[in-house]
Amino acid sequence: LPEDLTNPELVAETELAFEGALRPHTLAEFVGQKKVRGQLELLLTAASMQGRTPDHILLAGPPGLGKTTLSMIVAEETGKPLRMTSGPAIQHAGDLAAMLSSLMPGEVLFVDEIHRMARSAEEMLYLAMEDFRIDIMVGKGAGATSIPLELAPFTLVGATTRAGLLPNPLRDRFGFTAHLEFYDPAELELVISRAARLMGFEISADAIQVIASRSRGTPRIANRLLRRVRDYFLVHQSVGDRSAVDAALELYDVDTLGLDRLDRAVLRGLIERFKGGPVGLSTLAVSVGEDSETIEAVVEPFLVRAGLVSRTPRGRVATEAAWNHFNLSQPNVL
Ligand code: ATP
Repeated sequence: LPEDLTNPELVAETELAFEGALRPHTLAEFVGQKKVRGQLELLLTAASMQGRTPDHILLAGPPGLGKTTLSMIVAEETGKPLRMTSGPAIQHAGDLAAMLSSLMPGEVLFVDEIHRMARSAEEMLYLAMEDFRIDIMVGKGAGATSIPLELAPFTLVGATTRAGLLPNPLRDRFGFTAHLEFYDPAELELVISRAARLMGFEISADAIQVIASRSRGTPRIANRLLRRVRDYFLVHQSVGDRSAVDAALELYDVDTLGLDRLDRAVLRGLIERFKGGPVGLSTLAVSVGEDSETIEAVVEPFLVRAGLVSRTPRGRVATEAAWNHFNLSQPNVL
């Protein structure tokens, strides 16, 4: 099987260097997400005018839409260093204490998948975010005491696939939550032409359009498809036209709507096993062997946005467009 080019969660080692090279470094270079960009700009400018560290920022949205990139931009725009970690790497409060106590004044701390942090660390983080202070526990049992430790002021940038997964006390301590949306095709075209320019790769406007329409609303996928198309052009010595792009994407099994394997499994399951629904989230998740959280936070948002699934009070339903996508006819609903 060819690699699943449209899975936004897969990031191969080799892709990391490539992603790094294509990353925008300033808010002005960052394509799309106009609202979030405007909000962030205001927040950063106001903080800099008052000479303080910007408020903590929560970035919520499906994978590959630019959360890591935005955290880097926050650091670059404030001219401060960036420390990166992730929720699963913080399994003990001690891990977090070590990191927090070594932050430089104004440093930006990026915690990816912040909803997966250990509970004990979460509690320490509340105090750190609010008062730039933590309490270190020394000793055990009745003789245990806590020693307060002052921290340098810092800006926490947390990323999560869904803000709803965070406990309320943590969510409330972010001064600003940015909800990242899927990119529309015109925005993805800008992402792709910018990346092509940086790669020194000449490609026609209609070829860019085809790639954009199959990128699942996700810049990470757009860049990845562009790279495969470039390989194809190189090997087949083709010019950057539309038919060559179609052939390249066909070769890699890229769906005309940009759906990845899990998207297709969910849709097919919904149609074939449940006659198009309505079916509850957990039943659907079990039928494709995934956990409900992934279906809800990663798969469903795009299917809903693409008009293939609708959420009803009785469960998930495949729309007519979904049946058509698989060349199936929707049974008459009375
Ligand atoms: P994850 O949460 O899975 O780590 P992410 O949302 O943090 O994903 P990024 O790693 O920031 O996603 O972005 C993925 C790739 O998409 C990067 O190569 C980046 O260059 C590109 N990219 C993301 N957003 C934009 C944008 N607005 N403009 C141009 N390129 C972008």
